[in-house]
Amino acid sequence: MLNLKSEINSSKNYFVWTIGCQMNIADSQKLENVFDNMGLGKSDSVQDANVVVLNSCVVRKSAESKVESMLGTLKSVKTLFPEKIFVLMGCMVGPKTDDLKKRFPYVDVFAQPQKIEPIVDFISNKMGIDSEGCLESITVTPDVAAYVPIIHGCDKFCSFCIIPYRRGREVSRTIEDIVNEVELLTFRGVQEVTLLGQNVDSYGHDLQPGNRLEDLLSAVNDVEGIKRIRFLTSHPNDMSEQIIKAVLKLDKVCENFLLPFQAGDDDVLNSMRRGYTNLEYRNLVDKIRDYVPQATIATDIIVGFCGETEAQFQETLDLIQEIRFDKVHAAAYSPRKGTISDRMMEDSVSKEEKKERLEAIWEMQESVQVEINKKLIGQELEVLVEGKKRNKVFGRTRNDKLVFIDTDYDKTNEFVCVKIDDSTAWSLQGTISR
Ligand code: SF4
Repeated sequence: MLNLKSEINSSKNYFVWTIGCQMNIADSQKLENVFDNMGLGKSDSVQDANVVVLNSCVVRKSAESKVESMLGTLKSVKTLFPEKIFVLMGCMVGPKTDDLKKRFPYVDVFAQPQKIEPIVDFISNKMGIDSEGCLESITVTPDVAAYVPIIHGCDKFCSFCIIPYRRGREVSRTIEDIVNEVELLTFRGVQEVTLLGQNVDSYGHDLQPGNRLEDLLSAVNDVEGIKRIRFLTSHPNDMSEQIIKAVLKLDKVCENFLLPFQAGDDDVLNSMRRGYTNLEYRNLVDKIRDYVPQATIATDIIVGFCGETEAQFQETLDLIQEIRFDKVHAAAYSPRKGTISDRMMEDSVSKEEKKERLEAIWEMQESVQVEINKKLIGQELEVLVEGKKRNKVFGRTRNDKLVFIDTDYDKTNEFVCVKIDDSTAWSLQGTISR
């Protein structure tokens, strides 16, 4: 079916633009696979595409502004080429689309996250393509590493977050379904999978007992051909001892955790509705490091949340200094329409203060990362080569360190042993030793 349709429709192209988290990337990959199965060709530009998809993110104001700017560009393109099909999908699209239809009348299809059926229906009708069976196709992107969504939605309703309103309540896929997908990925050469969820640790709570994240990790660990397994994003309240023990016990599960703490002060954490305290978070990190001493830990932080004082922010800085994360993703709070904080709290910290707080975090974290990475100089680390970046061969270690390799050979999708010769805050550099 694939080849036949490719021949029929090769003159019809699609272009997918994606912004946001790994979930969005995974959704776009899935849609691209369905388009491929429908016989559409992949294009690198809006100009060359018959179908243009924007996969949107509204988790932060900066992301939303980029989507709006892209939509502005599409408006002028539609005037010149009215036959092009425009699709807006992702977190900008809620259950009601009346407002979006008014603001962007030149968009043909609006689709909520993960809901790609309306897109496929519209395109197959409009273009006269038989799409039967194309939707059942799973993610088969022939890359080195692939994202595999395992649980959709989120039940947590943190006060600042739009995700539960856009991606809905938590729904886990079955272990069997996920393992099938991972097996298929291995046939396409994928060696590393990242199991995805907005709150990946709560995987399986809606399934029968015996189907929790640790059980899934164990099942994926048994898939021949898979060499590395990662999972993200974790939530401190759902990171159980069983999950930590699974990371320790299962040889393919990589020792790195993305464990957002968001703020260092207990009152701020409380108004964010995060459900844990500073002490509980620190105890959890201690537990992870007791079981898995070589674990690397990354985190997410929001600065300038409603009412956060300078003294409260200092607690965030203190936590960063104490824990010494391997990576920190920090962002300034921006109210998202319809969330609890937007409806009930005042965005009281000025833009300038938020900027200063972000800069303080980056400065502190940079010096932490310089120190951590310097200690790796001289070590030999296993690296899975992913390709070329800035004309340099690069890959990642088991615990997610970015490594640039001094080599003239294309080693993409190979495991190599790299002796680390140099480091910066953001990456390691080395030469192949074996
Ligand atoms: S855990 Fe909180 S921040 Fe994360 S997706 Fe759910 S509601 Fe949003």
